[in-house]
Amino acid sequence: EAKSFGSAHACVFQSEMQTRLMEKKSFEADLRQALRKGELQVFYQPQVNTTTREIRGYEALMRWFHPVRGEVPPSEFIPVAENIGLIHELGGWVLRTACTEAVRWPRRLKVAVNLSPVQFRSRNLIQSVVAILSQSGLEPGRLELEITESVLLDKNEQTLDTLKELKAVGIQIAMDDFGTGYSSLGSLRSFPFDKIKIDRSFIRDITTRADAIAIVELVTGVARSLGMTTIAEGIETEEQFACVKQVGCDQVQGYLIGRPVPAAQLIHLRQIGHRFGSMEDEDLIDAQAVSGRM
Ligand code: C2E
Ligand code: MG
Ligand code: MG
Ligand code: MG
Repeated sequence: EAKSFGSAHACVFQSEMQTRLMEKKSFEADLRQALRKGELQVFYQPQVNTTTREIRGYEALMRWFHPVRGEVPPSEFIPVAENIGLIHELGGWVLRTACTEAVRWPRRLKVAVNLSPVQFRSRNLIQSVVAILSQSGLEPGRLELEITESVLLDKNEQTLDTLKELKAVGIQIAMDDFGTGYSSLGSLRSFPFDKIKIDRSFIRDITTRADAIAIVELVTGVARSLGMTTIAEGIETEEQFACVKQVGCDQVQGYLIGRPVPAAQLIHLRQIGHRFGSMEDEDLIDAQAVSGRM
């Protein structure tokens, strides 16, 4: 009897595996078609100067709206795109879209685009970035590429060379999610970053945990002494904003300041109102002045 129970169990297990495998395959198939079917979009989230509240630019974030699956978060589809080699195509599309969009913005505004480690290691990275810049007409200095600590993990010469080549083109480099990986403060010295994005996990704890605020202050200090800009990601409350401002963070990004939105919904305010989230008359006037000047 035990034997038949066992085989029935194995059978259920096997069909569960089969279902999961089929679901994986169908997810991949859907993702491969997403771009062609127009299901992908690029949203933009503002990055703001902490002291002047001026908008410095926007981070481009990929969105996938599937007719049946609904909105699929990047945390679910980016790793799959990396695994099946689709990230080159999707990443190239995001970069092209973001650069083409940014050309229409006031010139003081930059656009930040995430670069997957898989893209970063690709042989023709520089070539394709340069081509996209020239096709879109965006000045290289207005493009910022965000890379994660994981690209620093393979400590070969190539990593540094690639960063230097991108810098030579005039592109800005930001280290994304700093503090989540294994790289140390010392590693900041070895690579030519323009900006350090302090990970949201530190910001989340900043008003309740002394160690979190100490870390943000330390990173900010080290970055400044190396001539790098700091930005705190995931700012959701006024308290968090006050905190990072107090320890000297140059810029902020987060739901408090603005959620990611489609390009058509961007209003290029010169400054964000005194209270975030509330659009004040001054801002609206300024926004009109800015768009009138474009
Ligand atoms: P990331 O580059 O660190 O992007 C910031 C993430 O934090 C975004 O999530 C953004 O929507 C979210 N966020 C911003 N402000 C807040 C806040 O105040 N609170 C909270 N809870 N979250 C906030 P998203 O759009 O889901 O993207 C997640 C990650 O997926 C990104 O993290 C990035 O690593 C990756 N990703 C997104 N778009 C692209 C892309 O075009 N290419 C590549 N390679 N990766 C992308
Ligand atoms: Mg990013
Ligand atoms: Mg980040
Ligand atoms: Mg992050």
